[in-house]
Amino acid sequence: MSSSRRGLLAGSAAMAAGAVAGCALPAGASRAPQTPFAVTQATVPIVGSEQAFPVRRIYCIGRNYAAHAREMGSDPTREPPFFFQKPTDAIQVVTPGTVADHPYPPLTKNYHYEVELVVALGKGGRDIAQADALGLVYGYSLGLDMTRRDLQREMGDQKKPWEIGKSFDKSAPIGPIHPVAKVGHYTDGAIWLKVNGQTKQNATLKHMIWSVAEQISRLSQAFELMPGDIIYSGTPENVGPVVRGDLVEIHIDGLPNLSVRIV
Ligand code: MN
Repeated sequence: MSSSRRGLLAGSAAMAAGAVAGCALPAGASRAPQTPFAVTQATVPIVGSEQAFPVRRIYCIGRNYAAHAREMGSDPTREPPFFFQKPTDAIQVVTPGTVADHPYPPLTKNYHYEVELVVALGKGGRDIAQADALGLVYGYSLGLDMTRRDLQREMGDQKKPWEIGKSFDKSAPIGPIHPVAKVGHYTDGAIWLKVNGQTKQNATLKHMIWSVAEQISRLSQAFELMPGDIIYSGTPENVGPVVRGDLVEIHIDGLPNLSVRIV
């Protein structure tokens, strides 16, 4: 075999798997198109399973706790929470019991933590009624909506998209997903964040303006939800900055704590 032929084959390893799967499809069914290179599918481990949760979209809820909305300069009685997204490569999986290195990102001098409950969807749909919404939930985790606050504010002041402040590499640290069949739903319980052992954020999930069911219902009015979508459900008050060397620990009652070191 010539070396160029060998190179071609090595490069098409990912496609080979697709071709094998294609053989099992009924005649006329479409095969996945061949691609010149592989793009990584972001996944998050599932607790108690060999399988991983494939992440399709990352939705985030802005200003879903009244006290946080006020600290951000808005009036929660007049402005409802809202949605934004992060790219799937914002995912940084953090294993409980370890301290993950989290890179301080470029372009910012005011890098903020936001601890959040994360909801992972196993089913999708449009215009989901609140009463049916929790039926879409596959499981829960906790995570950080890391934010370049200076860039977010600057863009907001200029009435430009926030993206550069919110939607960058590794801006969404997350723990393994706990299937709802094992842990139930999270409507209550403490949510806190410590930096270097000192409590910074400390609230309860009950203080969310939009409950998880309401988040799913409202999101589904704007977007067709799909299995693999995850939702960062908003942060409570007292967000603040970290610098290199800081140790950030986060907690939600009923989930194992996560820790990251800012490097
Ligand atoms: Mn947030």
